[in-house]
Amino acid sequence: MIYSIVKFGDPVLEIPAAEVTSFDDGLKKLVEDMFESMYAARGVGLAAPQIGISKRIAVVDVTFKEDPDARLVLINPVIISKEGRQRSSEGCLSIPGLYTDVVRSSWVRIQAWNARGRPFSLTADGYLGRVIQHEFDHLNGILFIDRIDPKKKQRLLAGYEAKVEA
Ligand code: ZN
Repeated sequence: MIYSIVKFGDPVLEIPAAEVTSFDDGLKKLVEDMFESMYAARGVGLAAPQIGISKRIAVVDVTFKEDPDARLVLINPVIISKEGRQRSSEGCLSIPGLYTDVVRSSWVRIQAWNARGRPFSLTADGYLGRVIQHEFDHLNGILFIDRIDPKKKQRLLAGYEAKVEA
């Protein structure tokens, strides 16, 4: 099933999501649907709040279907360490058409659970590290525009909303 993507302005994007407590067939189906919805929206990462489900689940595939082994499921992820700074342009399926530079950690080490309830840890840098940090933020109700200078955010959003209304 392909969910439609919740857009900026919906409160579900701005509240912390709830921990997953049951690793059942419903969760596996939801994860599959999230990959399908992410691909349909031409994204490389998707967090459950972006389909209106306030749960700590994110899916990532920075190869966009090219490498099946690159599919990453992050359930209840925790960042256990991070270091350095990298600045790069970022966008979000929930704020289509808006791009801006965001400073993130150069690398992160996370711990998470997969859809079968198995814990794992992963160290990621570069683009993958950035996408993971972006999706992790969604689970805490934080958007990429919350990571930039507030004045710049205001200016970008004013232009964005004018464009959406036009
Ligand atoms: Zn996003």
